[in-house]
Amino acid sequence: MAILICGGAGYIGSHANKALSRAGYETVVFDNLIYGHREAVKWGSFVKGDLNDPEDIEAVFERYNIEAVMHFAAFAYVGESVTEPEKYYYNNVVNTLNLLRTMRAHGCNKIVFSSTCATYGEPAYLPITEDMPQDPINPYGFTKFAVERIFKDYSAAYGLRAAALRYFNAAGADPEGEIGEDHDPETHLIPLMLDAAAGKRPDIKVFGTDYPTRDGSCIRDYIHVTDLADAHIRALRYLENGGRTAFFNLGNEKGTSVLEVIDAVRRVTGKDFKVTLTDRRPGDPAVLVGSSERAKRVLGWEPMYGDINTIVEHAWNWHKRHFGKEDGENV
Ligand code: UDP
Repeated sequence: MAILICGGAGYIGSHANKALSRAGYETVVFDNLIYGHREAVKWGSFVKGDLNDPEDIEAVFERYNIEAVMHFAAFAYVGESVTEPEKYYYNNVVNTLNLLRTMRAHGCNKIVFSSTCATYGEPAYLPITEDMPQDPINPYGFTKFAVERIFKDYSAAYGLRAAALRYFNAAGADPEGEIGEDHDPETHLIPLMLDAAAGKRPDIKVFGTDYPTRDGSCIRDYIHVTDLADAHIRALRYLENGGRTAFFNLGNEKGTSVLEVIDAVRRVTGKDFKVTLTDRRPGDPAVLVGSSERAKRVLGWEPMYGDINTIVEHAWNWHKRHFGKEDGENV
């Protein structure tokens, strides 16, 4: 029996693939390589295919004995989802329906899904718990919310069992340096800052300094990608043990401001870089911090790498190794 990892060549999927393989699971990575990297698939089998093509998915289920699915494959650029919602609804929702249809046809009823704190929208209170009303403020968040709703309906009607994991800000890299974050285009705070520290970007822009927070910059809950990968294995075991459809926040339960991340990057890299204070980015809530109490209680999950310095250190080690080599530079 194998675990199918849709989007397993991407950032979080590749870390889940490593964790699953380490835990003794046979894995099959299915990825269209639009954003994923073939070289990030270092464990298990690889099948190039697209969830928009039902024949591609069918072929995988015919070839392998798929016990359960982990589904990371999605477009995840919030800004682009606003200007090109059709692309997001098709890729993130319709293609997930294609996957669920094939799973049903093959009697596969377990799925662990990449959801997001973006399904909540502007938080009504902090820390965010899973029971907080979900009211996403952009199409990206809505696509993930829609899939969660589909899970509820399919669970009631067809016996699907899904664990939807609502990540806060995924960050860091494999502590052993084998895989890491490599988005093109890159929009995330920590990798952009590491680029600035490496001299590959002229500066880092702070989007907003007038938020009602301790230093005026946005506060986020950064969670190490290896801790996310561990939660996926625990969620899979939960489903294997008969667990019903459930929704879990995954965060460190502590907030770090953009200015505090800058301090951490300066400390860890030992490099200074230019910081430009700019206007707010539209759609950014002031503070997003989650309660992970449910994941701790039900899944027995406990983040191992909660310190922002450790998160930045692992990201920097990967960044130097990966991007330094690529550019022929020694950063
Ligand atoms: N941010 C920033 N400058 C950047 C990129 C991001 O100040 O160049 C801020 C952004 O406003 C947010 C935080 O950093 O408060 C994390 O943003 P990111 O895009 O990494 O993740 P998001 O919170 O949007 O999922």
